[in-house]
Amino acid sequence: MSQATAEGESAIAPASAIPSYLQADNLGPWGNYLQQVDRVIPHLGKLARWAETLKRPKRILIVDVPIHMDDGTVAHFEGYRVQHNVSRGPGKGGVRFHQDVTLSEVMALSAWMSVKNAAVNVPYGGAKGGIRVDPKKLSRGELERMTRRYTSEIGIIIGPNKDIPAPDVNTNEQIMAWMMDTYSMNTGSTATGVVTGKPVDLGGSLGRREATGRGVFTVGTEAARHIGLDIATARVAVQGFGNVGGVAGKLFSEAGARIIAVQDHGGTILCEAGLDVPALLQHVADTGSVAGFAGAEVLADEKFWEVDCDILIPAALEQQITTQNAGRIKARMIIEGANGPTTPAADDILQERNVLVLPDVIANAGGVTVSYFEWVQDFSSFFWDEDEINARLVKIMKMAFAGVWQVAQEKKVSLRTATFIVACQRILHTRELRGLYP
Ligand code: GLU
Repeated sequence: MSQATAEGESAIAPASAIPSYLQADNLGPWGNYLQQVDRVIPHLGKLARWAETLKRPKRILIVDVPIHMDDGTVAHFEGYRVQHNVSRGPGKGGVRFHQDVTLSEVMALSAWMSVKNAAVNVPYGGAKGGIRVDPKKLSRGELERMTRRYTSEIGIIIGPNKDIPAPDVNTNEQIMAWMMDTYSMNTGSTATGVVTGKPVDLGGSLGRREATGRGVFTVGTEAARHIGLDIATARVAVQGFGNVGGVAGKLFSEAGARIIAVQDHGGTILCEAGLDVPALLQHVADTGSVAGFAGAEVLADEKFWEVDCDILIPAALEQQITTQNAGRIKARMIIEGANGPTTPAADDILQERNVLVLPDVIANAGGVTVSYFEWVQDFSSFFWDEDEINARLVKIMKMAFAGVWQVAQEKKVSLRTATFIVACQRILHTRELRGLYP
């Protein structure tokens, strides 16, 4: 019940009060994102009057996903799709299946997509989805039913011109195929452009699977040049050896670097002489983890952060580099293949210690860049060859990185803040041009 004030009016919250689900608890990824936004606001000039836009997702959908399990029971999963911002175009961003998915995590991931898409200047807003589930515990049939029901539930807000999902942690080409099919069955026509990261035989793009790792390698190489770090002799440590870390590791090793340590959910391995990357990729494909790989020693998980390396690539989950380990990291350069792996407090420690951080919102933007190519190809039903795709990807990544590097130098800010400056200016400029409706 609202309290009556002395004037007899209801004491209702002012219209601009922050809803509880948007408040930073300074612990989760959303809190980290809000701190990153606060660091950019002083650099936004007149556009700062629109900055609150960045702190409020445009639309949040929470869905119940009930499915028949193979044993005859009915299980319910909680799913989300968050459209953070659509000022620059339709929402765009992946779908994650993971046992730790929460609404605030998906909100942060959707916001980082807005920033990322603007940073590389692809014509999208930001969105993200997820289901709290450990997909490894589902049979293939259960996984398909869950994916299809989730797609049906979010079908009211996604579409080729509205919001375009893609793969993320634990989702892949097959899951995108089921999503595309479900959406198409519901709308009555084959809509390849509703998701990206599809199988190539179903409107997918050549080069999409490797694109995030290739982007990590491209910006890493550019940055290395700026700081006089020779990739051909660099020692690299990678966390996560899947679609992002595995591909980046392969490209760095092909360029002469030694991949000396890899950590994933199964454990941590070390080989000072350099791991045999093709053999390790095969081992991960066969067993699901780097654990048990012959030709490497086992390292205690916590020791991973202290490995004596030149380049560290966190390519797994959020909040891995924190105040607990940032002071012990020996790398000269960190390339964020994952989304949100470094907390703002850890960022400060790293900057103080002169460790260069290539932030997620530019370093891992290669995936969504080739997603954009896929979407364009689907619309025109005209498909490009892989050389053209890779050449266009590298061009966009280099151009975006050069712009961000320049802003960082001019304003004497971190590359993260510089990327946020470039991206948030783009987002808020379109926000202002479009104006408020009504
Ligand atoms: N999930 C990827 C990311 O975090 C790709 C998103 C997309 O292609 O839409 O950037």
